[in-house]
Amino acid sequence: MSSILPATISGSLPKPAWLAHRQQLWAPWALAGEDLAEAKRDAVRVVLRDQEAAGIDIVTDGEQTRQHFVTTFIEGLDGVDFATRATVKIRQRYDASVPRVVGPVTRPRPVYVEDARFLVSETDRPVKFQLPGPMTMADTLADEYYGDRERLAMEFAAILNAEARELVAAGVSVIQFDEPAFNVYMEDVKAWGISALERAAADLSCTTAVHICYGYGIEANIKWKETLGPEWRQYEETFPALATSAIDQVSLEVAHSHVPIELLGLLGGKDVMVGAIDVATDDIETPEEVAATIYRAMEYVPAENLVPSTNCGLVPLSRDVARAKLKALGAGAALVRSELGA
Ligand code: ZN
Repeated sequence: MSSILPATISGSLPKPAWLAHRQQLWAPWALAGEDLAEAKRDAVRVVLRDQEAAGIDIVTDGEQTRQHFVTTFIEGLDGVDFATRATVKIRQRYDASVPRVVGPVTRPRPVYVEDARFLVSETDRPVKFQLPGPMTMADTLADEYYGDRERLAMEFAAILNAEARELVAAGVSVIQFDEPAFNVYMEDVKAWGISALERAAADLSCTTAVHICYGYGIEANIKWKETLGPEWRQYEETFPALATSAIDQVSLEVAHSHVPIELLGLLGGKDVMVGAIDVATDDIETPEEVAATIYRAMEYVPAENLVPSTNCGLVPLSRDVARAKLKALGAGAALVRSELGA
């Protein structure tokens, strides 16, 4: 692995058409049964080879085995009815068809551990595995049982911690919790969101990361971003609390974002996943552009603490565009390393 500036992605990659319908969130699977299981394994192999060829150092499964980064995990739990879904507004932004919590939530069996074991067995590189964050989970379902988001999130946090421990035992090097809800419910984040996140990450022997973001480049998000004004300062409220938390790594979108980069200074001491790839456009960054983003981040965070990354998941993009963006990311990180003599 690269000695400094190890490149990684924040999560998802587009799925092949033989696995699921293209460029669509919650896309239905194209196969079923053993054919689907085999196709998922093949898709994981393909995205691993794509990441390795692009010079990505910390690899992921690109979420090839899950339909959605939150609901697929929830569907692995008891106490949840996903046969009869409900439509709710999530992130205060858009309607989504989500599972319903109808009783105490429990994890009767591991959800992703088999997937993680396969992923680790298929690559020599360190593996990152994404789990949804507890607050985002509580925001991506219809709760008809607890009636209290904090309590529900704490239940999820305990479940996530149990899952994460087994993922680490399966060979995972980095566990990343995805918490886009942290940019929406600012008061709840400070009141209990970060505590729930720390509960989920408690005593894990791997690197722990949190990916907070302004979402995929889908239309509902683009419209929402237009309401946030010229500067997106939500992180100004959360970063000081995250800086004193037990989480090792925090992500920040930099490429073409309206997030003032000096907010990185609020993360004192943390590793930072610096988003150097815009996920809301098909334009392919050049390695030089990626390098320039890394250099901008280095004004606030030492290179030793930077992890070049994508702004968010690449799932809404075409496979060709996603692959080209991966290459730009790997090449940009390599360019900075060589210029630094690292
Ligand atoms: Zn994201």
